[in-house]
Amino acid sequence: MKRAENIFYVGDLKITRIDELTLRGADPARLFGENWQPAALEKHRAWLVPENLDADENTLVQSTHCWLVQSPGFTLLVDTASGNDKERPHNLVFHHLQTDFLAQLALAGVNPGDIDYVLLTHLHVDHVGWNTRWLNSKWVPTFPNATYLMSGTEVEYYGSAASHNKANIPSLGVFADSVLPVISAGQARMVARGGGEVLKGVTFIPTPGHSLDHMSVSIESEGEEAFFAGDLMHHPLQVYYPELNSMYCEFAGSARASRLWGLQYAAERQAIWFSPHFASSSAGRVTREVDTFHWQFL
Ligand SMILES: [Zn+2]
Repeated sequence: MKRAENIFYVGDLKITRIDELTLRGADPARLFGENWQPAALEKHRAWLVPENLDADENTLVQSTHCWLVQSPGFTLLVDTASGNDKERPHNLVFHHLQTDFLAQLALAGVNPGDIDYVLLTHLHVDHVGWNTRWLNSKWVPTFPNATYLMSGTEVEYYGSAASHNKANIPSLGVFADSVLPVISAGQARMVARGGGEVLKGVTFIPTPGHSLDHMSVSIESEGEEAFFAGDLMHHPLQVYYPELNSMYCEFAGSARASRLWGLQYAAERQAIWFSPHFASSSAGRVTREVDTFHWQFL
């Protein structure tokens, strides 16, 4: 495992963080709800400030971004952040967003046509946005040559009104502009419940709870493993308090169980954890110390 800025090497994988937004101002009491204990902030303040905690405001710093993974065999993206031009009246942070995301991708030496696969951990607003872009008055797949892999169960669920609950209000409308156009274009491939290996060394692993059929993605290469955890956590504080769900976790009990499972998995396998929401490097190692977990940013 080596690292340049925003670039990590795991086995023969080159993994680059493609930035979209830095999110400031999240009140932990709001994000984590009733289980939040303010003492946690004091205990961890020293290592969180300044990149993961705003010291003056006592608010969390987060990020939206996705991960570009390049190997001799494929070029793929894990999740696609929030996207430009989308109507998001229920979540103004993402409403009519304009970012230089595609320029960031170009800086990494990759054009949209170079992406072979898009792997989606789940179908929430900040993970599927760049699936599509607005071109000639319609939403079209941003990556014209990519196969988009996603949970078939989530397609069924988020494509229906049954999915409209309090936790996923920010994602209303997302299916129509960011998922359906990819399916209509014939570029979607459904991953069955239970996940499994979709490409050599690339495995979807069920980690449900944050969303109905949320899946993490493990990519193994030359004896090393990258673990793309999706939204098992939204901030590194949750490593130390895995019982804390975010306000966006739809199914509380299974979200907690999956977070704990993921932390154990990464610690036991010494897999490198890649988060879509941590600020600073957003990648790190999890170790276990008796009955608590410990996080080390890479
Ligand atoms: Zn998210």
